[in-house]
Amino acid sequence: MKPIYHNLEFGITCIDTQHMRQDFVAAYLIENNNRAAFIDTGCYLSVPTLLATLEAKNISRESVDYIILTHIHLDHAGGAGELLKHLPSASIHVHERGAQHLIDPSKLRAGVIGVYGELFFKQFLGDLIPAPKDKVIIKQEGDTLDLGGRILKFIDTPGHARHHLCIWDETSQGIFSGDTLGVSYREFDTDQGCLIFPPTTPIQFDPQAWIATVHKLMSLNPKVAYLTHFNQIEFNQESANMLIQHINGFVDIAKAHQTDENRHKAIKESLLNYLLNISTKHGVMLNKAQQTKLFKGDLEICAQGLGIWLDKEASYQ
Ligand SMILES: [Zn+2]
Repeated sequence: MKPIYHNLEFGITCIDTQHMRQDFVAAYLIENNNRAAFIDTGCYLSVPTLLATLEAKNISRESVDYIILTHIHLDHAGGAGELLKHLPSASIHVHERGAQHLIDPSKLRAGVIGVYGELFFKQFLGDLIPAPKDKVIIKQEGDTLDLGGRILKFIDTPGHARHHLCIWDETSQGIFSGDTLGVSYREFDTDQGCLIFPPTTPIQFDPQAWIATVHKLMSLNPKVAYLTHFNQIEFNQESANMLIQHINGFVDIAKAHQTDENRHKAIKESLLNYLLNISTKHGVMLNKAQQTKLFKGDLEICAQGLGIWLDKEASYQ
């Protein structure tokens, strides 16, 4: 197993978990004073890549103190239980709403199979291994971890999911943002910078909470964001504005198709047109077929999440 990874500044490594395709799902490794931490793990099938990265970088498994999870969606946390088995000094650090699902993943498994189907689960996510209760530690707003003298601070960040935490790293002035500061594929980078859009994944998308979260994160004055999808980007007020604009744009699309007969299909088509439109304005040179291929997975999931959000909104009225 030859791992693919990108060495960033400040002892940070972006590991390409190679889930589905390259440059799609990252896990991060932070090293400081001979101690190490993973932030997110990819899915169960990504674990050999993470272990191979440790070996390639000459980091002992014993020196890994923490497996930190931004949230428990399986492309971020599905590998946590399996990875823990190989790291004798490590514990898992997670939002209080996620902890129980790591100790007993049966509901999570059923939920994921409900969204993606059994075949997809087996083929692309692999499995879910329960983590021992005493190794799963709940983190809340303001909690910190000390990695060889480097302080990592947890921030409660609802919006993409209610079990989402971001991690503020004072050393890099960066935020390990999971999905909260959006998705931005490197294939869409132009001289205008990067293109960022919100993954409105089922089942807890909450646009108002998300926008409030983005403002809260911007009060830290970050220089960079370490995105799961994908890699490090510069993150400034303009990036935040772009993300908020497209959260609102996605919500408008959902509302416009609220009463359509085939709502899901209509939302999906409108989302594709919206994304193609913003990428054209952004100066992206990929052709329509190439872009559609890169957006394909997100379109399905974002449309499902928006549909669930519409139904919840309707039930409140
Ligand atoms: Zn997610």
